[in-house]
Amino acid sequence: MTAADAVVVGGGTVGAWCAYFLRRAGLGRVVLVEKGLLGQGASSRAAGIVRMQGGTPEAVRLGQWSRRFYLSQRDELGTDSGFTEQGYLLPCFTEADVAAARERMAMQSHLGVPVRWLDADEVDEANPTLAPGQTLGGTFCDQDGFISPPRNVAAYTVALIRSGVEVAERVAFRGLVPGGVDTSRGRIDAGLVVLTGGPKLAAVGRLAGLRIPAGGVRHQVAVTERHPDLDPKRVPMVFDLGAGLYWRPEEGGLLFGMSNPDEPPGENREVDEDYLARMRARLSRLVPVTAGLGLRRIWAATIDYTPDHLPIIGRAPGLDHVTVACAGGAGMMWGPGVARAAADVALTGSSDVLDVSPLGLDRFDEAGHSRLATDPVALPFPERISSS
Ligand SMILES: Cc1cc2nc3c(=O)[nH]c(=O)nc-3n(C[C@H](O)[C@H](O)[C@H](O)COP(=O)(O)OP(=O)(O)OC[C@H]3O[C@@H](n4cnc5c(N)ncnc54)[C@H](O)[C@@H]3O)c2cc1C
Repeated sequence: MTAADAVVVGGGTVGAWCAYFLRRAGLGRVVLVEKGLLGQGASSRAAGIVRMQGGTPEAVRLGQWSRRFYLSQRDELGTDSGFTEQGYLLPCFTEADVAAARERMAMQSHLGVPVRWLDADEVDEANPTLAPGQTLGGTFCDQDGFISPPRNVAAYTVALIRSGVEVAERVAFRGLVPGGVDTSRGRIDAGLVVLTGGPKLAAVGRLAGLRIPAGGVRHQVAVTERHPDLDPKRVPMVFDLGAGLYWRPEEGGLLFGMSNPDEPPGENREVDEDYLARMRARLSRLVPVTAGLGLRRIWAATIDYTPDHLPIIGRAPGLDHVTVACAGGAGMMWGPGVARAAADVALTGSSDVLDVSPLGLDRFDEAGHSRLATDPVALPFPERISSS
């Protein structure tokens, strides 16, 4: 038996940064329990997109906070997650897209995001790899960018070690016990418990006796060969929202990702060749230079999601010492903000990162439906949480 001020479950970007923030807030002994190795879940496999152009005020605030954190890391830690300010374009293809984008832009601008409208010819000018004449314009934020997910795992590993968090790898959380948690290496007494788990959060919740409506589903990413036209200076990041396709420059080629809206929920890391062909077809229509390019890397991994595509940050109902945190499939974009807010909530019940009161588990009904409006700027996640 051992004792800690806080136990955090899950060594992904949410749990790890949360453990770091708890330690930085002054807790003496913080233990991070990871059933495998740090970063072995979604966090090392992501595409790294970081966007302040969120679809709801909560999404915008988490994006702003996380971006600022990425920019501050080097001073704070001596290393960083590799944030690159690339600029992000969300093109519009229909009048309905334009109306929705202009409405979002007003909300984002009000919250201080330097987002601007580009007319169709300005879109073509800002993005010479995009097939000309395709769009009706779009929103653009030159401060959006991307991190390197493996480098983020390295950065939080440094942060954990430097701050004195005790990292317990290959130790599985098994459940809550009075005054602490049960793990595969025995009991840890703890005043505070934070539960994360990314695509496995529902299972972590079940171990704790909680119903958490968070799911996991396959998501695919690929990287093309290099091409001079794909020089990063010529390629802003782009989110083709209607298709759920996004891309960004990567080592002289293009990294692109897309979620199949018909994908059944559940863990899956096999590459779906048919869907990859559909991804490529859409990409080559919009970025013709990619049509003849080979692929240097392809991977499929399980991404976390929530029914309303928004994060979960809040204390477990009836268990004031237990806090639940999930980035809802946007852990690169929102992860540090979610982690800091979860640490704050664990310690005090509220956070100055954002007002977390709408984001708790109490927003979901018995069937897992949320009473919040769905974040409209998200991948096309399944409507259900599990395939059963
Ligand atoms: C292919 C892909 C591309 C993505 N691209 C982007 C992107 O561009 N931008 C973006 O914002 N987000 C992106 N995401 C989403 C992002 O990666 C996730 O939202 C984020 O990594 C979730 O972090 P996490 O810490 O909650 O979960 P994870 O990183 O999955 O970590 C959870 C950890 O909990 C551990 N765990 C589970 N059960 C237990 C237990 N019982 N005991 C102890 N430990 C346990 C797991 O082993 C795991 O290490 C992408 C995801 C994927 C898969």
